[in-house]
Amino acid sequence: MRIAIVGAGIGGLSAGVGLQRAGAQVTVLERAAEVRAGGSGLSIFANGLRALETLGLGPQFAAITDRKAESFAAGQRRPDGRWIARLPTDSVGELRIVDRADLHQILLDALDEGTVRTNASVTSASIDGTVTIGQDAPEEFDLVIGADGLNSQVREAVEPGIGPRYSGYSCWRGITERPVDLDGAAGETVGRGLRFGIAPLKDGRVYWFAVANMPQHASFADEKATVRDLFTGWHPPIGELIAATPAKRFRRTAISDLAAPLPIYHRGRVVLLGDAAHAMTPNLGQGGGQALEDAATLTALLAPVIADSTNSATATDSPEQTGPVDSAHANPTDSAAEVEVQLRRYDRLRRKRTQSIAAKSRTLGAVFQMQSPLLAGIRDAIFTAVPSKLTAAQAASVQKWEPPGGMTR
Ligand SMILES: Cc1cc2nc3c(=O)[nH]c(=O)nc-3n(C[C@H](O)[C@H](O)[C@H](O)COP(=O)(O)OP(=O)(O)OC[C@H]3O[C@@H](n4cnc5c(N)ncnc54)[C@H](O)[C@@H]3O)c2cc1C
Repeated sequence: MRIAIVGAGIGGLSAGVGLQRAGAQVTVLERAAEVRAGGSGLSIFANGLRALETLGLGPQFAAITDRKAESFAAGQRRPDGRWIARLPTDSVGELRIVDRADLHQILLDALDEGTVRTNASVTSASIDGTVTIGQDAPEEFDLVIGADGLNSQVREAVEPGIGPRYSGYSCWRGITERPVDLDGAAGETVGRGLRFGIAPLKDGRVYWFAVANMPQHASFADEKATVRDLFTGWHPPIGELIAATPAKRFRRTAISDLAAPLPIYHRGRVVLLGDAAHAMTPNLGQGGGQALEDAATLTALLAPVIADSTNSATATDSPEQTGPVDSAHANPTDSAAEVEVQLRRYDRLRRKRTQSIAAKSRTLGAVFQMQSPLLAGIRDAIFTAVPSKLTAAQAASVQKWEPPGGMTR
């Protein structure tokens, strides 16, 4: 089975690993000149870990992360450092903080050489399985996976006209260039229209993010100075984290999700995953985790079809093959029909869950970014009153996931 994956982000690369290991001929098409992850960190919760294990990447991921973040005090603090809501340390659940560059590297290393084609900007994809790169002649595949992110081109083949919607806030991210002592506390600090998040990496460096309400296309002469000024007077070690990050590593992203949930994730020979299917705001730290779940689900569902098509091709090609080939396995039409069946299952398994998480994430963002002193005060009072065990239980419900058929390697 020939599969084109458009986009070499977390979703595209992880799907590539799973499907290639299942026996498909995978080509990942990436428009950039090199596969890069951008300089920031990523939180991966229990569901993302299960997905990585399903894809056979558990040991590689364990080697680039540790369990340190799980033992840190977490929850929400006020800018002066007092806790609004503090989660019991044993209730955070499984959590790993990873440098995105390291995650990208283990995904790339797990693919056969030559799988990723860079400088391959896909200009259109069609439900008959054809993909056009730049001005080239269209190429045909048995399946096209749109993993091309928030501004997906492939999405147009599945559901045209649904694009991104700006949330009203943007986010700077960075990683300190040296270890910084966090005094055992991580999580988020929430102000009025401002938020700062702290997450420890394995080697003692710290991944941080700073969120502020602003117009989508705001521009600043000096990004580092802007962040420093916005968070002046906030509790330690926020100032130190900003100071310990080189100016060139401040990266600002306008936070958007999809303007409307897609009514379906596949059409014909095209299927969507990751942000292309369900771009969400990062307030639950789940976009990457959901992309990994998508990749693991698609792999689990398609692996038997790929195995059948590989076996029938081997049987047909083999000179020793004398008897009749099992007709259910030999007929490409049957194989295409079975792919269609599995894509429908994928849609059923993934759409409701991912769209519900995207909706929760958007609501949480609106609450955390409240600007009005009155509303922010009410928010803080409510968060203080809600028992932390309840907050932890709600988070755990999002982080609970098993692959279809309980397939974990
Ligand atoms: C501030 C912020 C913090 C976040 N924090 C977390 C977190 O802690 N945990 C978490 O799980 N998630 C987090 N996320 C979400 C996570 O980053 C995304 O959900 C995830 O990266 C999506 O991966 P993807 O592979 O679907 O898309 P992308 O990473 O966007 O990859 C898409 C790829 O497709 C390529 N491409 C695009 N168009 C084309 C084309 N036409 N032809 C060929 N190639 C193309 C792009 O160059 C890119 O390489 C965060 C997001 C933001 C913005």
